[in-house]
Amino acid sequence: MTPLTIDAERFAADLAALNAIGWDGDGGLNRTALSDAHADARRWFLARANAAGLPTRVDSAGNHSALVPAADPAARTLLLGSHLDSVPHGGRFDGALGVLCALEVVRRVHEAGLELALALEAIDFTDEEGEYLGTLGSEALTGVLTSERLAAPRGGREAMLGAFQRAGLTEAELVHARRDPHTVAGFLELHIEQGPALERSGTQIGVVTGIRGNASFTVTLTGAARHAGTTPMDARRDAGVGAAAIILGVRELVMRDFPGCVANVGDVTLQPGAFNVVPARARLALECRSLDDDELTVLADAITTVARDQAARHDLEIAIEDVGRWTPVPTDARVRAAISAAAQEHGLSHVEMPSGAGHDAQVLAEIAPVGMVFVPSVGGISHHRDEFTSLQDCVNGANVLLGAAIALARTL
Ligand SMILES: [Zn+2]
Repeated sequence: MTPLTIDAERFAADLAALNAIGWDGDGGLNRTALSDAHADARRWFLARANAAGLPTRVDSAGNHSALVPAADPAARTLLLGSHLDSVPHGGRFDGALGVLCALEVVRRVHEAGLELALALEAIDFTDEEGEYLGTLGSEALTGVLTSERLAAPRGGREAMLGAFQRAGLTEAELVHARRDPHTVAGFLELHIEQGPALERSGTQIGVVTGIRGNASFTVTLTGAARHAGTTPMDARRDAGVGAAAIILGVRELVMRDFPGCVANVGDVTLQPGAFNVVPARARLALECRSLDDDELTVLADAITTVARDQAARHDLEIAIEDVGRWTPVPTDARVRAAISAAAQEHGLSHVEMPSGAGHDAQVLAEIAPVGMVFVPSVGGISHHRDEFTSLQDCVNGANVLLGAAIALARTL
């Protein structure tokens, strides 16, 4: 039996229309959460759903949805979606492609008159990218959004409250967006890979095994500030040299002993910071990621040991501050199987792979089985105006999402 496919022509026209909302050419896509352009994209989404005869809703966290009810009004819901907001000067595919694919899936299911055991809901989550808080809409829906998070959002509390007011949201009403977990059967998110693995291996579909956890540290090295012209090279306690040794040591360790993991020193500050003064102090922003929680613990121990060893070698004092840990989130085996089977049905090559970036799916995993479909990112570029995925890869992804959603509506 040939599988149901999306309407590729309609999908391509919609992709072009959505891509244009907030597009600033050389400035990239400016569609940050709750901005005017973001509101335009969300209105466009509801209008396209209504034009297809689908009921829509907006919850009290501003999440926008298009629905296909099941025959049984008591049926649970399979959520499909991602986010229409972008980072400043971002790309056109991060998040938006997942929402558009979800919209096309619910339209096709509705048009085909399929009677499914689960209701389907294409959803656009509010502020995934963190203009104000990050994964705000999905946290409100799952009920994990805390008052502590709302008290100190990374975008600033005043700015967040101002944006809420413009969008007609209130802090007090966010709690009403919470769904009873028993009503959510699962969540399926299509997303661009945002890395080069699929393109490099020439694979069409990524079946995401899980979202990597992260352990982050601030490392402070203390040596001695001395005259850079008069102090002999072998008599220096140079915090800058220590920082360099840690950067290289961490990279070597991960590449040698932790295949499948990543680590990064993303920021280094040297003080006093002058041509002619040996640096007395270095601060490093160090993080590492793994798909496995136990491995993350071992990895975090190993990289902090490298830091301590290098500090000792260069006669520096060291302080390591733990600044955050996010547990890895595995996807559900049934959802992975449904994605692989759908790719197979459409004759598409597919591979299991972890997600290095965070997504709404990791929040939904708190209450329901989740899975993610990845499509290739040209050059691995993301959060940049050059972010691109070919139309054929977008169509392939939408077909896999459609096939997986239909299968999961039978099995979840
Ligand atoms: Zn995204």
